[in-house]
Amino acid sequence: MKGEVLAVCSRYLGPGKTSGKRTTYRCSRCGKEKFEANHERGIAGCWNEACAAPRCTDALGLVAFFEGLDERLQFPEVVKKAHEVAGVVGGMRAAGPRPSARARAAGSPGPEPQRAEADPEVKNAAYRRLLSLCPPTDRSLAFWRSRGVGEELVAEGRFGEATPKAARAATRALERALGRKRLLGVPGFFAGGGRGRISFTLVGDYALIPYHDREGRITTIEGRALTATQEERTGKYVSLRGSANHLYVFPRYRPDDLLAFCEGPIGAIVAARYGLAVGAIQGLRRFHAPGAADEPLPELRGADLQGRVAPYVPDRGVGKELAEETACALAEPARGLPAVAVLPEHSGTAPVEDLDGWLLSLPPDPRVRRAAFGRLLAVGASSGEHGATV
Ligand SMILES: [Zn+2]
Repeated sequence: MKGEVLAVCSRYLGPGKTSGKRTTYRCSRCGKEKFEANHERGIAGCWNEACAAPRCTDALGLVAFFEGLDERLQFPEVVKKAHEVAGVVGGMRAAGPRPSARARAAGSPGPEPQRAEADPEVKNAAYRRLLSLCPPTDRSLAFWRSRGVGEELVAEGRFGEATPKAARAATRALERALGRKRLLGVPGFFAGGGRGRISFTLVGDYALIPYHDREGRITTIEGRALTATQEERTGKYVSLRGSANHLYVFPRYRPDDLLAFCEGPIGAIVAARYGLAVGAIQGLRRFHAPGAADEPLPELRGADLQGRVAPYVPDRGVGKELAEETACALAEPARGLPAVAVLPEHSGTAPVEDLDGWLLSLPPDPRVRRAAFGRLLAVGASSGEHGATV
């Protein structure tokens, strides 16, 4: 969640002074007003060079420091304490589990279905820690640039980058921090590394794309192959072993904001560059796999589109029936109206493959791209209302 770092700071340091993205506090360690939090980046620390407080750490690092815990050796305690602190201060995590979107849509606010996956807080802590140990380098930044995604968006999206070496080292650090049993409950981690070690699905050359739920917790990580060899071996996109289906929403947005749905997170990421809130499924085959539809998408849980039309924008070549089925499966549990918005076949002379390809093929003026997106959705929405498409 976004205010996490501020909640932790004000719990330990009292009220701060906010100016833009920055909130300043009096540091409890050195007494100087040099403790700064940036809620957009989710980091904080003391800028007094002589001070022992960390300068640049996240909410978990702050809790560890203020509680005198060793983040590396006492990670589970840090996670537990952070949960208490954020819950006490913000009241945002104190609420009980929400009924699933599907249960709400059916008018029966039943309890959350039992999931085999680890606790969302443990998953969040593990994935966040992994990403902090696998930051983006020039290699993935170059990949993102080639997809129209600049460095600021990479930071805002909290993307990471795996090399085999970094991902293995991060997995070992997580095993030490969380313990073997707990880590094995987190999708993506499994027994089967050499010498009884835990391995991780994304040990390889990948751009790492974290998915977030409405509370801002990381729910899963998807890998995008960065080398030809990696792509040959595993395909372009790799989901974590043992993970359910997920919906990508750029962390700036809440699921209630969604204007449309597409396939593949890069479509949603490029849309975010133009201020457009789009949710992305991980892939049609995966989305419609047998049994997958029984589990509501965790990121859409509790989402309320308030009866708005939220069209699905299929990739090129998706049949009408499958597109309509997908549109319904996405919009209806979130109380939205389903529709299908079909991309033009060509942009200039080039064939259009998907949402991001189309957006990036338009004249570069952001206003032109936003307006074109608006027209695309309007056509989809009107066909939905009149029942012509859905
Ligand atoms: Zn200080």
